[in-house]
Amino acid sequence: MAFSYWESKQWISDRDLLIVGGGIVGLSAALRAKTLRPDWEISVIERHPFSGGGSTRNAGFACFGSATELQEDRQSLGDKAALELVRKRWEGLQLLRETLGDEAIGYQSCGSVELFLKGFDSSIQAPTDDELKDINRWLQPVTGEPSTFKRTLAEGFIEMNAPAIADCIASPLEGSIDTGKMLGSLIQKVRNAGITIINGCHVKGVRSNPNPQVCIAESDAEGTWFDAKNVLVATNAFAKQLAPNLDVTSAPNHVMVTEPIPGLGLQPTVHLDAGYVYARSIGERLLIGGGRHWGLQNESVIQKRLLQTLHRIWPIALDIPISHHWVGWLGVGSDRMPIHSILSPGIHAAVRLGGMGVAMGMQFGNEAADRILKSPAK
Ligand SMILES: Cc1cc2nc3c(=O)[nH]c(=O)nc-3n(C[C@H](O)[C@H](O)[C@H](O)COP(=O)(O)OP(=O)(O)OC[C@H]3O[C@@H](n4cnc5c(N)ncnc54)[C@H](O)[C@@H]3O)c2cc1C
Repeated sequence: MAFSYWESKQWISDRDLLIVGGGIVGLSAALRAKTLRPDWEISVIERHPFSGGGSTRNAGFACFGSATELQEDRQSLGDKAALELVRKRWEGLQLLRETLGDEAIGYQSCGSVELFLKGFDSSIQAPTDDELKDINRWLQPVTGEPSTFKRTLAEGFIEMNAPAIADCIASPLEGSIDTGKMLGSLIQKVRNAGITIINGCHVKGVRSNPNPQVCIAESDAEGTWFDAKNVLVATNAFAKQLAPNLDVTSAPNHVMVTEPIPGLGLQPTVHLDAGYVYARSIGERLLIGGGRHWGLQNESVIQKRLLQTLHRIWPIALDIPISHHWVGWLGVGSDRMPIHSILSPGIHAAVRLGGMGVAMGMQFGNEAADRILKSPAK
């Protein structure tokens, strides 16, 4: 169905900035642009009723990488670029906390542990003491701490199954957030700033003709092309649909949450297998997710393996049913650096946030807005 004259004029046509994707990156970019250019008309087009991408389907780790994950980054990117990446996560988290406030995002300073389980089918080895020293030395310019990671005894975590844990690396610097509260308060802030968020519309295409245009449709209906002065594609895992040449692949990730476990206290966030598996507590519930590196296609097999891992760490969860199970899509590629790209005149993309986009998302969105404002198409 075509949009009415009023709908088009009021909310869609001729925006100074039209953003595709209402996740943390798109919303942060909108807020930054409006702060710097209060005179700009800005709309965010989001196809899902809430958000529907990683920003409402993540695990809520306020993290910057476990020791083995950072070792992988150093190997694939080199020390300098990997440090730049971890800085983006670290500074992005500070920015998120400062902008929205710890209470509004449900921030908890719970610390983290990276666990190496006995008899767990994994190729990832715990770092030696010398390797740990080297990681800490490399990381100090970012965290400001001489010992970001410390080898520790699993016995210190009373609800965890210490005899099953071969090795344990802890960091006091990691935290967790309430993902729903975080995005809810960001949406509120964006609306309060006078930015329009349009849910339930799909963007079918973007082009420069020669000025930027965006094809928008209600659900699966045929789209209409609208002019915009500047466009930002912030669709992360779904970027290929609008930008087929970008190195972004959509990777599904399963997440499960248990029913409450009476008396369960706050747990540190847990990393396994270089961050491919993760677990945490949410109030009296436990969450576990990930496992995409196992290469399993069958959903129930992935679920079963995640549950076995959960029970191995926390035997108290053995008879507790799962209350929620969902899939979220990560935007990944040949390395873990996010991509900012100009697709065609006036059309930018800020995508591929990987598994730590909560940490990086706000700062990355701000940077995308800054680039657009530095040389706006109009
Ligand atoms: C299961 C899971 C667990 C995670 N856990 C963590 C974690 O603990 N900590 C962390 O830091 N990061 C985590 N992440 C990563 C993080 O959630 C993402 O990197 C981040 O949310 C990406 O934000 P974004 O705004 O780039 O993309 P998204 O949040 O994916 O937003 C993109 C939006 O674009 C919309 N969209 C797509 N195509 C169109 C279209 N054609 N028209 C209109 N709208 C469109 C989508 O509906 C979506 O809402 C996790 C991700 C997943 C999937």
